Amino acid sequence: MKKNVAIIGAGFSGLSSAGYLARKGYEVHVFEKHHHPGGRARQFCTKEGYVFDMGPSWYWMPDIIESFFSDFGYRTSDFFELVSLNPQFEMIFADGKISVPEKLDDMKILFEEIEKGAGGQLEKFMKSAKFKYEVGMREYVNKPCNSWVEFLSPKIAKSALSLDLLTNFRTYVARYFSNPKLKTMMEFPVIFLGASPKNIPALYSLMNYGGYALGTHYPMGGFHQLILAMHKLASREGATFHFNHTVERINVENGRVSSLIINSKCYKFDTVVASSDYHHTETLLDQEYRNYSENYWLQKTFAPSCLIYFLGIKEKIPNLKHHTLFFEYDLDEHIDSIYRDKKWPEKPLFYCCCPSKTDAGVAPENCENLFLLMPLAIGIADNEQIREKYLNEMLSRIEKQTGISNLKSKIEFKKSYCASDFVSDYNAYGGNAYGLANTLSQTAILKPKIRNKKVSNLFYTGQLTVPGPGVPPSIISGKIAADEVIRLLQKTQKHVIDNH
Ligand SMILES: Cc1cc2nc3c(=O)[nH]c(=O)nc-3n(C[C@H](O)[C@H](O)[C@H](O)COP(=O)(O)OP(=O)(O)OC[C@H]3O[C@@H](n4cnc5c(N)ncnc54)[C@H](O)[C@@H]3O)c2cc1C
Repeated sequence: MKKNVAIIGAGFSGLSSAGYLARKGYEVHVFEKHHHPGGRARQFCTKEGYVFDMGPSWYWMPDIIESFFSDFGYRTSDFFELVSLNPQFEMIFADGKISVPEKLDDMKILFEEIEKGAGGQLEKFMKSAKFKYEVGMREYVNKPCNSWVEFLSPKIAKSALSLDLLTNFRTYVARYFSNPKLKTMMEFPVIFLGASPKNIPALYSLMNYGGYALGTHYPMGGFHQLILAMHKLASREGATFHFNHTVERINVENGRVSSLIINSKCYKFDTVVASSDYHHTETLLDQEYRNYSENYWLQKTFAPSCLIYFLGIKEKIPNLKHHTLFFEYDLDEHIDSIYRDKKWPEKPLFYCCCPSKTDAGVAPENCENLFLLMPLAIGIADNEQIREKYLNEMLSRIEKQTGISNLKSKIEFKKSYCASDFVSDYNAYGGNAYGLANTLSQTAILKPKIRNKKVSNLFYTGQLTVPGPGVPPSIISGKIAADEVIRLLQKTQKHVIDNH
């Protein structure tokens, strides 16, 4: 009889695990509390005709995503059209802006115009970033990180020094560039990793390579197309999806998951992979079977939560790019409000995505689809009044930048989303958006473990475990967890055969 595996959650990591495990021939059942797949990358449509991606919008590291599909004999182009954005994005400063071109050679010219010698420095920076990307994304990132022993290979030892693990990202960037705008621009990618550039190892300049050098892409129809493709692929491999199914409890007997309580009914499985947020998954277990205490989570550095506005604008907005970063104020002040002060920022930085600049299908004719995102401390108290105050601030800065007037009167659809929504929708600890920060003390083997130490057939996957936050890492995480399950099930099968 086929072994059966339950997967909790149908976000990127759950879909990835489902695909690999179904391909291996196991009976795979995915239980998702929402009525459709996607998790943090869900999408919704409005009656006016706007199509909003609810989470990711920066499609970076396209090679990693491509290699997931090639594992199943597909290409992304079998499912959606991927376009490369030019410019990749625009960054607004108090005294000017930088438009980041599609091609690295054009970026070098731009850097040279801003700071003498910076073109050559960018080339050197990217050469080292490429090396880190290749070693990091091929050697390190696929490890389950059960033990340091996994990292004991001559190849890894040889490359360890060149990976700049012990230098912080800010110091590292300053070795290459002096111009404050260039420095901020080069620091920006690691903000995705959920911490200040002061606390992120320089290893993560691999993000600059995976983004700036490999390009910023957009799947026509929205980022959710990637979710739909992965859902289709896992279903074709034989995985069964159960939407509107909430896992309420994980029962354990003799050190193994014996059953799951789902929508008040009891189901038995040979193995369970939980892609739901790690802390929440642990609360489904009796205390004695949890990997970590409440105190452990209290001491962790979480990536931020955020305030999001989904806006339908009944007019075209001039002078606005697909991706715009409004960085008119000091980056560190905003970061301190998130990590040190844990309060609403006084001079917020924010991000504005306008996918209707590239994709006519996500807004009605002559209208714009706007997604505004402002990073915030986790656990922050929010209410409609505060959200509205920050919306006004963001709109007035967009008006100033683009020349459009009275933007608020042109809003025909408006929905806000903040920390409390992340808690109710995803059971996210403190309403975190992006999981745990990738600081050095929360990297690799120091991340929450992919295996439950007391329950042999329970595994965790997703942005809170290895390798970390972001779409490509979550897809990889799903594969790592699937490999661990396969190893366990093959071992048990061998044990049964040997004992016959
Ligand atoms: C606003 C935002 C912007 C982002 N931007 C980017 C970006 O531009 N580029 C990028 O690479 N990354 C980005 N990210 C990060 C990226 O989206 C995440 O790292 C990734 O989607 C996490 O996937 P996951 O599978 O770990 O978790 P999730 O997507 O959260 O999936 C977990 C699933 O489990 C389900 N679940 C939870 N509890 C239960 C339960 N008890 N029973 C059943 N189901 C349950 C949830 O509903 C959810 O569907 C962004 C994230 C956010 C929130």
